[in-house]
Amino acid sequence: AIVVEDLTKVFKIRGSGNFTAVDSISFQIARGTTTALVGESGSGKSTVAKMLLKLEDVTSGKILVGGKDLASTTGKELFNLRSRMQPVFQDPYGSLNPLRNIGNTIGEPLQVHGVGTRATRRARVLELLDQVSLPSTLVTRYPNELSGGQRQRIAIARALALKPEIVILDEAVSALDVLVQAQILRLLADLQAELDLTYLFITHDLAVVRVIADNVCVMQKGKIVEAAPTDEVFDNPKEQYTRDLLDAIP
Ligand code: ATP
Ligand code: MG
Repeated sequence: AIVVEDLTKVFKIRGSGNFTAVDSISFQIARGTTTALVGESGSGKSTVAKMLLKLEDVTSGKILVGGKDLASTTGKELFNLRSRMQPVFQDPYGSLNPLRNIGNTIGEPLQVHGVGTRATRRARVLELLDQVSLPSTLVTRYPNELSGGQRQRIAIARALALKPEIVILDEAVSALDVLVQAQILRLLADLQAELDLTYLFITHDLAVVRVIADNVCVMQKGKIVEAAPTDEVFDNPKEQYTRDLLDAIP
């Protein structure tokens, strides 16, 4: 599970002082469940993801992963902790290295973490392709030779390579058309059940939230203004801001 306590991020902006992008937020995600983090552009969602992934330092507050505080973890322990938490970002065309073929793309985390031999890594890559319902023949292809939906499956396969407990999905289906979106959401749900995965699902799209999330945290200007089970948020939103977001669903 993930426990976030009073998490704050202040950016120092050159020439114009400080900007609080994430303002003392707290939430918990139980193992095997999906929590959606929603809110308009600039509300701080990706900054939360980056702090969880240690791509940004925490200004104050705590992030506990399986009881360990991410901020005070270093060295080999941090290396191991990071392997338990993997990202899937938006636009895999941009986030996948265009010069690396699909086999090496998916196998990269295994290589970085020194898992297995060349042969066992190859076998694992084929297993991962199968898990995301892609043919093994894709290993020699390059990202630009795949469709957007296929690239997103590759990003998911890579995220699963180290058998993480937690997957942080930042706008992971936002760039896809609705049909492919539905297929990827289905895949994510199947993988969650099969592998007991915990998801933090970041999106500005509330329609998608209803399909995938157990719980929802609504962010506005760096704060969580509403947090509740998905049905409650949709059926009985407490905050005007949440009602506005719901009204904006086409
Ligand atoms: P979107 O839905 O558009 O992806 P978001 O909710 O993910 O938005 P963030 O990317 O977390 O928003 O950004 C939150 C705020 O923090 C924005 O105002 C952004 O300009 C600011 N911000 C993000 N990263 C930095 C940075 N490295 N330096 C300064 N300000 C930043
Ligand atoms: Mg973002």
